[in-house]
Amino acid sequence: MINVDKIREDFPILKKTIHGKPLVYFDNAATSQTPQVVIDTIVDYYSNYNANIHRGVHTLSQVATDKYEEARIKIQKHFNAKKAYEIILTSGTTHSINMVASGFASLLNNGDEIIVSALEHHSNIVPWQMLCEKTGAVLKVIPMNEEGSLQMDVYYSLLNSKTKLVFCNHVSNALGTINPIKEIIDAAHKVNAAVLIDGAQATPHIKPDVQALDVDFYVASAHKLCGPTGVGLLYGKQEWLEKLPPYQGGGEMIETVSFVKTTYAGLPHKFEAGTPNICGGIAFGTAIDYMNSVGFNNIAAYENELLEYGTQELLKIDGLKIFGTSSEKTAVISFNIDSIHPYDIGSILDKLGIAVRTGHHCAQPIMDFYKIPGTIRASFSFYNTKAEIDVLVAGLKRAAMMLS
Ligand SMILES: *Cc1c(COP(=O)(O)O)cnc(C)c1O
Repeated sequence: MINVDKIREDFPILKKTIHGKPLVYFDNAATSQTPQVVIDTIVDYYSNYNANIHRGVHTLSQVATDKYEEARIKIQKHFNAKKAYEIILTSGTTHSINMVASGFASLLNNGDEIIVSALEHHSNIVPWQMLCEKTGAVLKVIPMNEEGSLQMDVYYSLLNSKTKLVFCNHVSNALGTINPIKEIIDAAHKVNAAVLIDGAQATPHIKPDVQALDVDFYVASAHKLCGPTGVGLLYGKQEWLEKLPPYQGGGEMIETVSFVKTTYAGLPHKFEAGTPNICGGIAFGTAIDYMNSVGFNNIAAYENELLEYGTQELLKIDGLKIFGTSSEKTAVISFNIDSIHPYDIGSILDKLGIAVRTGHHCAQPIMDFYKIPGTIRASFSFYNTKAEIDVLVAGLKRAAMMLS
């Protein structure tokens, strides 16, 4: 069970007022807020042991290296990776996806096929388009249906011996749909295709087990699960990480260098060129500890309650339509009121201290499917309350009255 009053004490920002009103933060799908323990970790790093890692013999460098590698092990345990070196620390989901996409350039041939889902963040479609341009591979799309779920029968029919890679998000950021990734992975493996799952939107709500999923690559960003921005992970099965060429050249990723030949360092260093976000990596570890201390079962149960309550209360507003109505979804509600532009409603809500996202949520293909310019998206976290949902509903009624 979640004691939300106690949890809210952990997040200093939740005490803020915006335009004189208590902050109601419902933009958690864009980034989560940061608990004091994570802020303390960041302050502690820069106050007490800021040093470059893996290089120095001096004490501070060793302390920083140990803490950074401890964080990697926390992340490994959290995702249940077999080996710590299968966890590559990156600057975030986008970086991780680009690392895999660019690595596959050397593994694909003209006419090979890559499958992506229609529910993608569009920044994540671009790396695959670039990869196709570079290699002559062909991009295939798993279509969605009206409720915002993937058409799995079409997916199964797209798979064939030319399919080399399948890319899908675990949870859609625009609609909150939880995709059936185990089925997606198992079917892809039957044709020997690799699967990359974008967990950016799932990891704040679900604790994924990469071994049980048998997924080849899984990526996520720390800033969506109570960690800092600018750090994330690429999990890859050892065999795949060994097969992929390094992404960037630089310090830390080489074993020996001469002008004739350079040999690359082993995992994970092969993919970690240059000085990483050391403080961010360590704080990512703290964030994972914090989330686990709250408990993912508790988080899921409580957020589901918020989702049910929010859905029920929002639907009482005249003319409000919810997009994304799958029975499998996280606490994200995307909606419009009549044909009022989402931006206008978002601006009024901001004046009332309510932070929501408006627009296409980097998922233009989904908006095109529904033939709308965008939506208002309220995304809840375990530190939100039903009382805050009431504030949103009142604010929406007021905005609708002013704008219609
Ligand atoms: C946020 C998000 C991303 C991008 O994450 P960054 O941290 O900005 O790299 C990618 N995919 C999904 C599903 C997301 O929600």
